[in-house]
Order: sequence, then C-alpha cells, then structure tokens
Amino acid sequence: MTERVRVDVAIVGGGIAGCSAAFHLRRNGLSVCLLEKGALGSQASGVNFGGVRQQGRHFAELPLARRSREVWGRLAELIGTDCEFVPSGHLKLARSEADLDELERYADAAAEFGLALQMISGARIRSEYPWLGESVIGASLAAEDGQANPRLVAPAFGRAARMLGADVREYTAMIETTCDGDRFRVHCARGIEVSARFLVNTAGAWGGYIAAAFGEPVPIGTTAPNMLVTEPLPSFVTRSIGVCGGDVYVRQVARGNVVLGGGHGWADLGLERSRPLTDVSTRAIDKALEVIPALKSALVIRSWAGIEGQMPDHLPVIGFSRTAPNVIHAFGFSGHGFQLGPVIGIIIAELVTNGASLSPLAAFDIGRFGGTAARPLAAAAYPAQEGE
Ligand SMILES: Cc1cc2nc3c(=O)[nH]c(=O)nc-3n(C[C@H](O)[C@H](O)[C@H](O)COP(=O)(O)OP(=O)(O)OC[C@H]3O[C@@H](n4cnc5c(N)ncnc54)[C@H](O)[C@@H]3O)c2cc1C
Repeated sequence: MTERVRVDVAIVGGGIAGCSAAFHLRRNGLSVCLLEKGALGSQASGVNFGGVRQQGRHFAELPLARRSREVWGRLAELIGTDCEFVPSGHLKLARSEADLDELERYADAAAEFGLALQMISGARIRSEYPWLGESVIGASLAAEDGQANPRLVAPAFGRAARMLGADVREYTAMIETTCDGDRFRVHCARGIEVSARFLVNTAGAWGGYIAAAFGEPVPIGTTAPNMLVTEPLPSFVTRSIGVCGGDVYVRQVARGNVVLGGGHGWADLGLERSRPLTDVSTRAIDKALEVIPALKSALVIRSWAGIEGQMPDHLPVIGFSRTAPNVIHAFGFSGHGFQLGPVIGIIIAELVTNGASLSPLAAFDIGRFGGTAARPLAAAAYPAQEGE
C-alpha cells in the first residue's frame, strides 16, 4: 500500500546539508519531508575528519565559511548540543620559505573577508609549539577555527528538525521523481510517495545522479579521504593541524585520541562502500611523524575512509537548477562540507522562502559546467559513475 505525504519541501539526502536544511526550513514555517536512504549522517557527514576550518578555503567559499562559523558557535542554543565543537584554533604549517610566502599571501587576502590569521615563525614557533618537528619553520593560526565530532552533527540537526515537526524518514531512498504540474511526486522505497512544491538535492556524492536526472549532468567525481585514529594519549596537540600542500592533517580529541588524515583510500559510489588503503595510511603516519614526532609510539587503533563528491574546481554546486523550477541543489562539497553544513541549511531555507540567499552563490551555480541534456525525470535511470 502506498503511504502519501504532502509537504512544501522534499529533501533528498540526510547528511549535514540535508538535516540542516530540514531544521532551518521548519524554522521558516515550511512543511518538510527529509528522505535518507540510510541513517542520518551515515555517509561523509558522519565519518569525516571533524575539521571546522575556514583557513585555506577558496575565496569564493569564505563568505559562506564565515557565516557558517557563526552558526557553529551557536549550535547548543539552536539544536540543543554543541556537537563537541571546540574552537581550538587551526594551525597551518609551513615547511619551506615558499610555504611561508603562500601563507602570508593568503592571510593578506583573507583579511578582506574578515578572517584574521596570525603569522608565527622563527623562534616563536618553537617556543609556543615545542611538540612540532624540526621540518616546521612557521605557521599561520586561525584562532577561531576548530573541530567537532562528525558523528553527532547531522543526527542532532535531524533530531532538532523532527522536534520542530519535520517528517524525517531514515532508510527511505528516493527511487524516482516525476513532475506533476506544479508539484514533484517523489517515489520512495517502502511504498512512500511524497508530493512537494520544492525538491532539494542534498544527496552528497550521489547528487550528480539527481542533477543528471533533471537534465543537467555535472562532472562530479568521488574521493575517499584516508583516516586513522590512535589510542588515547595525554593531551598535547593543542591546535587542529594542517600543512601547506595538504598531505596530512591532525587533531586531538578531548578524550586523548589523535585523529589524522592524509591521502585517499578506495570508494565505490554504486556499492556505497569505502575503505582505507594500507600504503596510504603508512604514508600519512610518516608525514604526521615529520610534523609531530611525539606520535612515534602511538598505537593506531582504527582506520577508515568515506565517500565524498568532488567537483573539478573543488567548489560545491549550490543554487537553483537551470532546468527544473523549484529544484535546489547543494552537493559535491569537495572536502569542505562539514564546516559549511550549518549555513547550507540557512541558504536553502532562504532560497525556498525568498527565492534568493544573503550569501553570494554565483561561483557555485550548476550552469558553470555548461552541460544540459534532455533526460527523463527518472532517478531509476541514473548512470553508474566511476570513482576518481
Ligand atoms: C573522510 C572524510 C573527511 C573529511 N573531512 C572534512 C573536514 O575535516 N572538514 C570539512 O569541512 N569537510 C570534510 N569532509 C567533507 C564533508 O564530510 C562533506 O563535504 C559533507 O559531509 C557533505 O555533506 P552532505 O550532507 O552534502 O553529504 P553526505 O553526508 O554524503 O550526505 C548525503 C546523503 O544523501 C543520501 N542519499 C543519496 N542518494 C539518496 C537517495 N536517492 N535517497 C535518499 N538518500 C540519498 C546518502 O545516503 C547520504 O547520507 C570530509 C569527508 C570525508 C569523507
């Protein structure tokens, strides 16, 4: 038997973007049905590194990152938990003079966006961070950046949305969408059919399937950042750490475990599976030891990867569809969507409610890839995609 649901907005994808959208749309008084094929936050949003970092972001993304950082600071007030967000600061390390120049140039440009970065070099880096290795000759510090527990955030937004009356359906995949006059008819697993005025595509690495089904294919790839975590150690990594070149990143959680990432594992979009690769993990450990030698005796207790949608220009797709009125895309976050997630919901709510966002979105327009093609509105016709 078919269960029929009638709402203003159907959201496909219950990662941080979709859950935050459900919450903010409800706050704007719209009725919402959120469809997630697994559990909320079970893909990239729940398994990422946990970096809440503005430093180093593309300048097109910085206005969104700045706005999102403000929301991170208010999570407890908004959704009833801070999701272990800690403004530990983010220290980006220089291992050469060229790196230092790069950091200085970025700091000057970022100041225009209101992001304050503090350069630290020479004797100061040694005295303030004695646990950093000899290869580090300087750094820039984003004092207001930080880290949070990725396991908690999407479910917390989902719970808060539910408390405001959102209809949140886990283990409910969207199978096919058709357009019926001015409403979408979203056919889902388990015999559920959702009728909605707006359709929001927050399907993460799978977002390209939905865009293609609406006749606007995008060149999305997949990446699988390779992650490791150690046993709990006495606290000493006081900042979240990144490096110029991005080959390793490290943070220590309150319980003492050190989380580190570097390189890419294996992922298969069709199978919905990812896993770390041993040689990539070994290289990431070597890189981590270069910058934090005191980790040399730490025991790695777990490794993993996740499936992330990667656009060729490393910028997400955010905004209205070019082919289908009232379809809004927000996917392909290219490794940045955890920090951006809290504001993505606000932006989607603005687009639905007002037809425009307060944030500049031109750089994220799906039209930048140029491809539109006449395709049936059928998710069942999604082509298989290859990982990178
Ligand atoms: C290992 C790793 C480390 C990372 N580290 C960081 C970091 O430190 N900082 C940072 O800012 N970003 C980081 N990222 C990126 C960040 O995690 C993602 O950009 C972000 O989580 C994307 O959120 P999302 O909601 O768009 O996608 P997802 O979390 O992937 O959610 C999309 C959801 O859509 C669902 N879905 C897809 N198709 C359908 C369908 N047909 N029907 C129903 N549901 C569907 C999926 O099941 C999935 O749950 C990392 C990513 C990974 C994988």
